[in-house]
Amino acid sequence: MTNDYIVKALAYGGQIRAYSALTTESVQEAQTRHYTWPTASAALGRTMTATLMMGAMLKGEQKLTVTVDGQGPIGKIIADADANGHVRGYVTNPQTHFPLNNVGKLDVGRAVGSNGALTVVKDVGLKDYFSGSSPLVSGELGDDFTYYFAKSEQTPSSVGLGVLVNPDNSIKAAGGFIIQVMPGAEEETINKLEEVINNMTPVSKLIDQGLTPEEILFEVLGEDNVQILENMPTSFECNCGHEKFLNAIKGLGQAEIESMINEDHGAEAECHFCRNKYQYSESELQELLEKMQ
Ligand SMILES: [Zn+2]
Repeated sequence: MTNDYIVKALAYGGQIRAYSALTTESVQEAQTRHYTWPTASAALGRTMTATLMMGAMLKGEQKLTVTVDGQGPIGKIIADADANGHVRGYVTNPQTHFPLNNVGKLDVGRAVGSNGALTVVKDVGLKDYFSGSSPLVSGELGDDFTYYFAKSEQTPSSVGLGVLVNPDNSIKAAGGFIIQVMPGAEEETINKLEEVINNMTPVSKLIDQGLTPEEILFEVLGEDNVQILENMPTSFECNCGHEKFLNAIKGLGQAEIESMINEDHGAEAECHFCRNKYQYSESELQELLEKMQ
């Protein structure tokens, strides 16, 4: 259990749908598992935070995977989440770091690059998938998710994401919000919201000040306008396991498994998402071969 959680809310009598998340411990877990350097921690943490909130929009056993590929030095960022507050993620090059940018912030845009796309694949159950993609705007990720919602899901949104890193590379604070205009919202509400968002304190500052997810939504939308619906605990969690990778080894085919037995005298698999390692002995591989025949 962690102290991280997501808040789901409505505002302006249901014209606005809002999510806000505190993800400090989940991002810390990713930082520890992947040894990310500060700029990479921010990029991965922002992506995981957005993915987690998008997961909270799903139902039941549905889940989604977000891939950000801007052809920058960090490589790809991959995160996935389910509807129950579980998230995991990794980046191609976790030891990516640059000096602070000209506004004194971690230079996520430089690490991610902006020559590419943000792609979302939703597993909506019964082998049915929804897939959407939009070009990256800046690689800063908040803007990129905002653009994704407008372009790919036709939902005007505002996405704010923030990750603060301590001098020792640990995560000081992480979180964010997604605010979405629902169909049929009044022009007046949309205009008011735009004005608020254009003038609001940067989300990283709100997180640094220790605001809870509820308080972040009150800050953005006005406390009197917000109706909190649900509060869901969240955490970094990976569903990998010994059996799963054994299945993957099976998929490599007989010849490959024989060479693992004869040349390597066993096999080791490492999970991209959580870095857990799984060992397979010669005899276990032999048993697998026998089952396959
Ligand atoms: Zn794993």
